[in-house]
Parts: sequence; C-alpha cells; structure tokens
Amino acid sequence: MGTSIGWGLIGASNIAREWVIDAIRSQTGQDVVAIVSSDAARAAEYARSNKIARHYSEVDALLADAAVDAVYISTTNEHHKRQCMAAASAGKHVLCEKPLALSVADAREMVAACATAGVVMGTNHHLRHAAIHRKLRELVQSGAIGKPLFARVFHAVYLPAHLQGWRLHKASAGGGVVLDITCHDADTLRFILDAEPLEAVGLSQQASLATGELEDGVMAVIRFDDGTLAQVHDAFTVKHATTGLELHGTEGSLFARDVMTQRPIGEITLRTSAGESSIGVEHQNLYQRALGAFGSAMRGEGRASASGEDGVRSLATALAVQEAARTGRRVAINYS
Ligand code: NDP
Repeated sequence: MGTSIGWGLIGASNIAREWVIDAIRSQTGQDVVAIVSSDAARAAEYARSNKIARHYSEVDALLADAAVDAVYISTTNEHHKRQCMAAASAGKHVLCEKPLALSVADAREMVAACATAGVVMGTNHHLRHAAIHRKLRELVQSGAIGKPLFARVFHAVYLPAHLQGWRLHKASAGGGVVLDITCHDADTLRFILDAEPLEAVGLSQQASLATGELEDGVMAVIRFDDGTLAQVHDAFTVKHATTGLELHGTEGSLFARDVMTQRPIGEITLRTSAGESSIGVEHQNLYQRALGAFGSAMRGEGRASASGEDGVRSLATALAVQEAARTGRRVAINYS
C-alpha cells in the first residue's frame, strides 16, 4: 500500500451513501474506487450516482481488484462474517459495520482472521468519535463526577421511512432495535466509563413497527465491572423524544442532550456542589474522524479507535440484552 488508500464498498447501502463515502473522500489520499452489490443493476446505478469508478456483483471480483486496499462492509448483518473472512484472506483491511455478526463466536472468528492476515480491523461505532462523548470520557476519567454510580441512555427515536425494511421484519438479517441501537449504547458506555459490561436485565416491546419475533423498543439495565448500573432506553417508534446520556457519580452529574445521533451536535452540563456549568466542545463530523483514525491505523500509526474486539464486546452486550428481554432472566455477558 502506498500513500493513497483505495476503498472498496461491500454493500450498496444507505449508510455508505449518506455518511461514509463522503467521510472517506474527506481524507487526504483516500478514495472509494469500487462497489459490490448482490444485484448488478443496483451496483451500476450506485456507482454512477456516487461517482465510483468500478462496480461488481461478486465480492470475490471486488477483492481481486488491485486498487482496493481496504473494504467497508455495510451489507445487512448476516453477511458481515462471510465478507470479512473473504476480505481478510485477500489481504484487505476491514472496516465493518455493527453488529459485527449475529453471534459472538462468529465475531471472534472475524477478529482472528484479520489478526492472522495482518490486516487492520475496525468496527464502525461512530458515537465514540463524537466530540461530546470524547469530552464525557475525559470528564469521567479526570474525576469530574467522582466515582460513577449510574448512567442513563436515552436513545428512543423514530426509524425514518426509508430505513423501515429488514430492521423491522427480518430476524435472519439481525433486525430489531437491540442489535441496531443497544449495540451502539454498549460501545459508547464502554468508551466513556472505560469499564466492561458484566450482566443485563431487560424488557422489550413490539409496539407498532416491528413484526415476527423482532422488538421495536427496549428498556434494559446493564451492570458494569466498575459497579456502574446503566439504564438504556432504545426504540424505533418514538417520534417526539430527544436523545441524551446522563452520568451520575458520587461528586457530580453530567447531562448530555441531543447526543445519540449521527450528527455533530449536542451539549453537556456538569452539576456539582459548586453549581452548574456548561461544558464547551468543538464538534466534528463523527464519520470523518472515524475514517481518519482508521486511515492512520492502516498506515501503522495508532489503532482503529473502535477495534474488532470492541465490536465483539458491543455485540456480546446487545445479545445479552436481547436474551434477557426474550427470557425475562438476568443474563451474564458472554464474551467468548
Ligand atoms: P440498507 O438497507 O441501506 O443496505 C443494506 C443492504 O440492503 C445493501 O447492502 C443492499 O444489498 C441491500 N439493498 C439496498 N437497497 C436495496 C433495494 N432497493 N432492494 C433490495 N436490497 C437493497 O442498510 P443500512 O445502510 O441502513 O445498514 C447497513 C449496515 O450498516 C447494517 O449493518 C447497519 O447495522 C449498519 N449501520 C450503521 C450505522 C452507523 O452509524 N454505524 C448507521 C446505519 C446502519 P447489496 O449490497 O447486495 O445491494
């Protein structure tokens, strides 16, 4: 690999079109050079409308393209493992969407395959790249709220009409709000607290959008190994709520509003015995920052800031919440 990085997109997805293609192109020396879709016509149209030079209808053909140094996998979740394993075998770096796979064992195999191949693997957990969440982490780690006791995540949103497909109706694709959103909460909390989820309880709901065995709302509590209890509220069905994340510790509380989002927005208030203060942050595009970190890791400078292992851990936590909600039991998080 020279100084320039050619990306191949595996998946003609909304997330690539809405955020990731631009984020790649915002990096010096990085471009999207090829796209593969399972449908040849969709691949051609996607390439044309996104100004991508080459398009394929077979993953192996994209992986054989010498201009592709790295792949971004954003197909539906049941395909991630097979595509990641193939990319690793072809010696391509892998940035994979969350959830990495549908089981922890599969996600572990993906991480192992990338390690064996000597390629960088990252999980596209965008929220840890938000200036707000990085500031929350800094504040918690510097003792601004004393010892963390509780966290509350408000991530109940309304799934936009153009995304109301497999997430609501296709369990075999890893649909449902828990794999979609709780997975992100888990990564964000791990990142801020620098602690690991231990066990989960929860209840889920199928209110109006999801069908079959899939849930479109969940409330769960996750215990972390530093003792913090985190309450998460995730939904696809709530039209008028705002998002947020609160941290309550022995010496203070942090209130972050409008922060569980793809956009670089939101604000933080710190309340302690000294009073209430607004904490300033310099917002930055989350996906651009993620791609910048991944690009550095590919050049051997630093690491992908959400690694494959981070993806295994967020998936394990989400699966525990899903099982807890389905069985009504307290579920220990299984990282193997
Ligand atoms: P999309 O539904 O947009 O795309 C997923 C796949 O659906 C595509 O790869 C494509 O398959 C197929 N597809 C697209 N259009 C059509 C169509 N008209 N008819 C039939 N099939 C079609 O998914 P998202 O972009 O919402 O999500 C993709 C992945 O990204 C998921 O893993 C999700 O969890 C993750 N994600 C992550 C986010 C983040 O911020 N980190 C945000 C949103 C999603 P093919 O490639 O074969 O054409």
